[in-house]
Amino acid sequence: MQKCDKCGKPSEIDWIDLGNDEESHLCLECNNKIQSDNLGIELPEIARHSFILTDCDQELHLFDSEYIITPMFKLLRCFERGPARYKCEVQDSLDADYKNMFAEMIRRLNKMLSTKYMEFGTWIDYNIYGHISVSQEKEQFEIIVDGKPYTWEEIGKSLRDLDGFQIKIDTANPTVDFEPDKDNE
Ligand SMILES: [Zn+2]
Repeated sequence: MQKCDKCGKPSEIDWIDLGNDEESHLCLECNNKIQSDNLGIELPEIARHSFILTDCDQELHLFDSEYIITPMFKLLRCFERGPARYKCEVQDSLDADYKNMFAEMIRRLNKMLSTKYMEFGTWIDYNIYGHISVSQEKEQFEIIVDGKPYTWEEIGKSLRDLDGFQIKIDTANPTVDFEPDKDNE
């Protein structure tokens, strides 16, 4: 595993300077320190948080979040630790406030956790929401719905009672609040 150029911890963020083709490898903390010094912006005390949220079936979900400062924007992303695989990303401008970004991430996660889209391999309410997960080798491809992985074939089989129905497949960048808002339907 690559090590951070500054402190020797495992590297998490790789940058390539296109001007001179030089690569740098940094841990999250060193990256944020360097970027905030360069940009003259405030560095939050902690770049990582762990927190627990409850879903609509009263099951607990443990998340780890990472706060990343880049030369162009701030990114807050979180992944679920454990068997379920919910995730969320919030992107904002360099002058955005960390607390507001964190609140937005929690709002979006709570919205995701408040609805189930699949039950016993079929769609509960004529639409599903989730994200695409492709393995690093690009050999495995899954659709994650309700935090659970499904193959494309399983998603296809779940449609077999909808002969003749119209279908719409739409995608969005992970930082966009894209989930159907049930109250507005
Ligand atoms: Zn480091």
